[in-house]
Amino acid sequence: LGRLYGPLTAMSNVQVDVMTALVSFERVLEVLDLEPSVAEKPDAADLRRAVAARGASIELDAVTFRYPRADEVSLASLEAVATLRKDPVGDTLHEVSFAVPAGAMVALVGPSGAGKTTVSQLVSRMYDPTSGSVRIAGLDLRDVTLDSLRGTVGVVSQEAHLFHDTIAENLRYARPGATDAELAAALRGAHIWDLVAGLPEGLETVVGDRGYRLSGGERQRLAIARLLLKAPDVVVLDEATAHLDSESEAAVQAALDVALSGRTSLVIAHRLSTVRAADLIVVLEDGRVAESGTHAALLAAGGLYADLYATQFADTTTV
Ligand code: ATP
Repeated sequence: LGRLYGPLTAMSNVQVDVMTALVSFERVLEVLDLEPSVAEKPDAADLRRAVAARGASIELDAVTFRYPRADEVSLASLEAVATLRKDPVGDTLHEVSFAVPAGAMVALVGPSGAGKTTVSQLVSRMYDPTSGSVRIAGLDLRDVTLDSLRGTVGVVSQEAHLFHDTIAENLRYARPGATDAELAAALRGAHIWDLVAGLPEGLETVVGDRGYRLSGGERQRLAIARLLLKAPDVVVLDEATAHLDSESEAAVQAALDVALSGRTSLVIAHRLSTVRAADLIVVLEDGRVAESGTHAALLAAGGLYADLYATQFADTTTV
């Protein structure tokens, strides 16, 4: 990747089409867990210690956020540049506040463009809020080491990125040095061990575009196996919208149940089963919290959630 910095630094005027081309690098960086555009303070605290002492609660306190413009970001932060638009308009989030107790699940719902992904990116500290704060275990994310933050927060995105490499090596990105027995345990937890064990080369099977082609649901379960290996205390999950056949869907759901159990989770929810199971549902609209509460309370309130329920969730079959 070092080779990229020279040409990039030479570009004084980054255009939108160049940024589009960089998106694939952003995806690679995401998988490699390279550091984003945020800085670590010299006296940063160890988040893992705080989580061990107090549990992994999450609080957003009056979080307002405006995406930085591309020309406001140093070119050294490749990951941030790749995601930026040239002319973002105004604040994306306005005074968003909510609290998730340790071990609880919060579901984010809302119309397209409401800010769900943006909230999830602030919780994994891809960006810092423009004002307000995001805290885990009571610590402002700006005050903790990046290493301890990466160890505490695991992210599962809709599309699982696999390298053209063996299943074993794809999993070891999450925990270098993991033994084959540890890989097998994670694959069992993710409900995909039987498939892997049944392949002629097992863990050494090469996957990816030019290797063994895994289905969408299988890729998701491998991503969940990665998460189990990493064993973070907080999980940020973008639930897949892609339609899986019902067998895959059930396997992915079973794997997620294992992965989320006992962890604090923030889920961009697309399934009725998820919002029903959530301890707290936060309904976003135009970057603001429109309402929040449990499924039953929000339905009874008859507001935006009740509308979304009728249009977005009621036709999903998984309950
Ligand atoms: P969806 O359900 O469609 O994924 P969402 O609720 O996750 O939507 P976000 O992706 O958080 O919404 O987007 C919120 C707003 O921020 C949108 O207006 C979007 O265009 C804008 N936005 C998202 N990413 C960027 C970016 N990198 N730079 C500038 N603006 C962005």
